Amino acid sequence: MLFDSIAYGPIHSRRLGTSLGMEIMPLDHKLCTFNCVYCECGWNSPVLHPVLPTREEVKTALETKLQEIVNGQCLDVITFSGNGEPTLHPDFAGIIEDTCALRDRYCPSAKVSVLSNSTQLGRPDVVAALRRCDNRILKLDAATDTMMRRIDLPVNEGLTVARIMEWLAQFDGDFTLQTCFLRGEHDGQPIDNTTPAELEAWYRTVEKLRPKQIMIYVIDRKTPEEHLEKISREEMERIAAPLRAKGFDIQISA
Ligand code: SF4
Repeated sequence: MLFDSIAYGPIHSRRLGTSLGMEIMPLDHKLCTFNCVYCECGWNSPVLHPVLPTREEVKTALETKLQEIVNGQCLDVITFSGNGEPTLHPDFAGIIEDTCALRDRYCPSAKVSVLSNSTQLGRPDVVAALRRCDNRILKLDAATDTMMRRIDLPVNEGLTVARIMEWLAQFDGDFTLQTCFLRGEHDGQPIDNTTPAELEAWYRTVEKLRPKQIMIYVIDRKTPEEHLEKISREEMERIAAPLRAKGFDIQISA
C-alpha cells in the first residue's frame, strides 16, 4: 500500500484521531532505512535516483488541502509518515518549518506529528526539526540487537539498539515510543518480541528512556512477509500491564 499524493485525507487514524497525512517520500515506491517484515508499504525496491517532492511542492499541497478542509472539519493532527522514512528528505527541517507556519495560520489547534523509525537521530538537523513538532513518534521494535535486526532489517546492518537508545535519550523522554509486537518467521529465522527475555529487555529500555507516551500495536494489514502472526488484544493488555502499573501512559492499537 503506497500513498500517491503529497497531502491526503483527512483519515481516521487508530492512534492519532482525525489526521491529515503528509507524504514526502517518493509517491511510487518506498524509501526507507529499514525494511520491516511487517511494513504495509511492502519491501524496499532498489531505485538509484528516487524523486522526492520538493519543499515548495509540499508547502503548496499542504496549503491547498488546509484551505479545502479548514472550514468543514476539525483536524487533530498533521502527520508525516507514509512511503518510508520522512526524515530522509534533505529538506525535512524546512518542510517542518513551513508546516508549523501553515498550521498556525489555518488550523492552530492541530498538532504536527512525525512517525519516524529513529535511524536519522544522529543528525542534528533532524533532531532540531523533530523538536519543533508537537509529537515525535519514534520506533523501537525490540530491545535486543538480534530481534531488532530480524524485525526491522536495517539497511545499515551495524545499527545497534544501544545507538538508537543514545539517540532517543536526546529528547529527555519528550517523545512517544512506538513498538509493533509480532511473532513469526523470516528467512528461516524466528521472530518474536513477546518472549519473556525480549519483554524484559524492552521493559528495561522503556524505564531508562521514560517516554511520555508509549504506543504498542499489532500488524493490521497485509505484510510483505507472510509468515507473521497477529498478537491478540488480551496479550497486548498483558504486555502493557507491568508498565501501566508503574504509571506509564500506554496506548494499545490491536
Ligand atoms: S520503518 Fe516504517 S516505512 Fe520503514 S520499513 Fe519499517 S514500517 Fe516500513
